[in-house]
Formats: sequence, C-alpha cells, structure tokens
Amino acid sequence: MFTLETAATAAYVVAALLFILALAGLSKHETSRAGNTFGMAGMVVALVATIALALARHIEPLGLSLLIGAMAIGAAIGLWRARVVEMTGMPELIALLHSFVGLAAVLVGWNGYLHVEHDPAGGEATLLDSQGMLGIHSAEVFIGVFIGAVTFTGSIVANLKLSARIKSAPLMLPGKNFLNVGALVLFVAFTVWFVIDPQLWLLIVVTVLALLLGWHLVASIGGGDMPVVVSMLNSYSGWAAAASGFLLSNDLLIVTGALVGSSGAYLSYIMCKAMNRSFISVIAGGFGIEAGPAEDKDYGEHREITAEGAAELLSSASSVIITPGYGMAVAQAQYGVAELTRKLRERGVTVRFGIHPVAGRLPGHMNVLLAEAKVPYDIVLEMDEVNDDFDSTSVVLVIGANDTVNPAASEDPSSPIAGMPVLTVWNAEHVIVFKRSMASGYAGVQNPLFFRENTQMLFGDARDRVDDINAAL
Ligand code: NDP
Repeated sequence: MFTLETAATAAYVVAALLFILALAGLSKHETSRAGNTFGMAGMVVALVATIALALARHIEPLGLSLLIGAMAIGAAIGLWRARVVEMTGMPELIALLHSFVGLAAVLVGWNGYLHVEHDPAGGEATLLDSQGMLGIHSAEVFIGVFIGAVTFTGSIVANLKLSARIKSAPLMLPGKNFLNVGALVLFVAFTVWFVIDPQLWLLIVVTVLALLLGWHLVASIGGGDMPVVVSMLNSYSGWAAAASGFLLSNDLLIVTGALVGSSGAYLSYIMCKAMNRSFISVIAGGFGIEAGPAEDKDYGEHREITAEGAAELLSSASSVIITPGYGMAVAQAQYGVAELTRKLRERGVTVRFGIHPVAGRLPGHMNVLLAEAKVPYDIVLEMDEVNDDFDSTSVVLVIGANDTVNPAASEDPSSPIAGMPVLTVWNAEHVIVFKRSMASGYAGVQNPLFFRENTQMLFGDARDRVDDINAAL
C-alpha cells in the first residue's frame, strides 16, 4: 500500500543513488559540475523525504515548526557563507562544517541516551529491552558520541590552524603517543562498561575524553601533514553521521555517512602516498614526527629579476612549466596566469602546469582555480607526469608555491618535510619564483631553492607581477 512512509523510504533510495552519482561525477574534471548537481538534487530529495517521514509519523506542530525553522536558518547561513567565502577560505570553512557533523553526532547520541537508557521505564527502552537490543543501543550511543566529539574538536583545531589563528607547528606534549593510545584503550574499556551498565557519568567521561583526544590528535600534526588531517576529518565526519544513522534508524544517513567515511579514508590514503607518509602514523596523530631544530642556516644570497626581465626570458624560452601554489590562490592570479599561458602558446612556446598533490590548502585546490580561469585540462599535469621533464625545460614559473618545490624535502633528512615528494623545479635551466618576501611556506621551513644559482626571485603580489609580465609581452 502506498503511504507517505513508503514514499519517503523510496525517496531515500533515490537520494542514496544520487549521492553515489555525485561521488562518481566528482572524480573527474569534466564531470564534476554534473557531480555537484547530483549531490544537490540528492540533498533536496533527502530533506523533502525527511519532512514527509516526520509528517507520516505524526510529528507535533511544535516539532514541525522547529524542524522547518532550523532548516530555514541553516539554509540562509549556508547560502550566505557559500556566496561570500573566498577560494582561499574554503579549507577552513570545510573544516568548520565537519565540526558541525561531529557536534550533531554528539547531540544525537546524548538524545538517544536521555530517551532510552536514562528512562528505563519509557516506551522506547521497554521496546528495545523486549527485543534484546538495549545493549546495541548503548554501544551505538557511546561510539557515536565518541566519534562525534573527536571530529568536533579535531575540526575546530584544523579550522584554527588553516586560518592561521593558531600556529601550524605540531604540539609536542611529552608521551603524546601514549596519551592517544591510552585514550583509545580507555574508550574501549568504558564502552564495555557502558553496554553492561549505562550510567550517565560514563557518558560524560567519554564525551570529555573524546573532546580532548580530538583536540590533541590534530594539534599534534604539523604544517606539512595537515592535508591528510583535513581528509581524515572528512572521513571521521562521515563515520559520525553513520553512527547517528544507526541511532536514528535512518538508512540514508547510514549510507551517506559510509560513503563520506570511506571516500574520505581513501582520499587520506592517496594523500599519504603522495606525501610519502604512513597512514597509521598520521591517524595516530603525527606519530614519530619530531620537531626539527630552529633554523639558522646561512643559505647565501638570493638574486632578483624584474617583470620585464622575466618577460624577456619567457619570450626566448622553448618550453615553460608553471608550478602554482597557495600564493596563486591568495593573489587570485589564475586569470592572469591563464592569459600568460595563452600568449606564450600563441608564440609557439610549449606551456604546461605541474600540480603537486598538496599544493594550496585543499586537495585539488590548484586544479579548481585553473579550471575556473579556463586553462585547458590537457596541459595541467600531475607531479609524477612532469617531474622527469624539468631538466629539458627552459623556464619554470613557481607562482606562490613554496613547500611543494622545496629541495630540502629530498636532500635534507633532518627537514620536517623530509621524504615528501616535491616538484624538482631546480633541474630546469631557469627558475623564477613569484612571492612577496623571503618568508617560509605553510610548513615553516626555509626553502634552499630561493638561493640556487639558476633561481631568481620576482617579488610582489603574484597577480600584479603576472599582469606586469603580460603587459611587457
Ligand atoms: P606554501 O603554503 O608552502 O607557500 C605559499 C607561498 O605563497 C608562501 O611562501 C607565500 O610567500 C606566497 N604567497 C602568499 N601570498 C602571495 C601573494 N599574494 N603573491 C605571491 N605570493 C604569495 O604553498 P604550497 O602550495 O607550495 O604548499 C602547500 C602547503 O600547505 C604544504 O605544506 C601542504 O602540506 C599544506 N597544506 C595543504 C593542504 C592541501 O590539502 N593541499 C591542506 C593543508 C595544508 P610570501 O608570504 O613571501 O608571499
């Protein structure tokens, strides 16, 4: 028989399929817009179905008004933030959004406890007890609250680090691995205890423990490893949502949470491989990373070039590789860079882009900017695709990149970014570095590239300097 309830369940299946199509679409440049559209459509279907389900279950008028009110306020804030956010502010916004998922999971868990375990004579508790499911419910509450609270504080620290409101250097508490492992062991022990005897104080303790653990896990991870943390928190937020799905018996939330959780975990694995870091060590909170000594090495003198000089060098080049980084995003130089690319290609110069997997502050950050400026996809190459070609390249333009082109990563084992694969730009005939000062990059390490014989610094805002070169050309 057709009821609102069956219609809503069918709509959930449709929404889940749309979310899967969204993920498939987002895996390629060409289909990413369609992927986003599928995702948005899935969310609309899910929201309408949720309201329909609430109506089918005879939600009280007050509950319905609260539900619609919350949706309207959330939508208004979401639309406003999405409209005003700068591309450079996206990573910290995403980190903040993850923290909301974590907080929601904590609240859902607490709500589940207050309705069931805290009210053993109530309808829900008696029903679950008669089905022998009370223990499972308690485990769901406890695990959901734990994952949610870790995600909540972890994401807040990530937000603060990415927005540079706190330092990106790793927090080095004595015995930090012991603290993390100890917290996990306590969590397992308390879960067993809570399932046997669900007492309020245990839930309070696990909430506080998880809040502290989330804070510590992310605070212990230093600059260069932050990309993995961002995608790990994305994954945690998925598992937190799935845990809430189990508690609320909401299949769509379980499916969506699992999709986000597993795709986030896979992305973290890819990022770890790209950065030559061990997956386990990063999720264990910067396990084994030692703080490097303060740097006071003398690298010698750097040389400078003017925009006109750079234009001259580019006019006589046969091949050019552009390696953009976070500074290109800050300066919004991508349009000028696209124009420069067009001009050089018209003159018969081979121009390609070399994209480091963690350039910028977000996986795919540079690809998004270049696509926005309509740089053809086929000349935008991954690091592994261009790294062997630098020695046959006349000029490399390093536009606002720093850590991702740092030779110390491959040459100095004591460097905090040692072992991270980098773009080997220094093998080219000439390297021009666009930045505003001699300041270090996100990882806080000085870059010996700036002092190499074949490197020249082009100081100033990357957008202004690229415009100057375009004018000179
Ligand atoms: P970096 O962050 O290492 O360096 C960016 C450089 O851009 C700075 O040295 C800065 O120098 C310069 N810059 C800033 N603004 C401007 C401007 N307006 N004009 C010109 N230059 C400017 O960049 P990379 O992209 O090379 O490396 C990314 C770093 O971020 C890595 O350490 C990575 O691990 C980390 N990270 C990456 C994430 C990801 O998912 N991609 C997430 C979190 C962290 P100056 O101030 O002198 O101008």
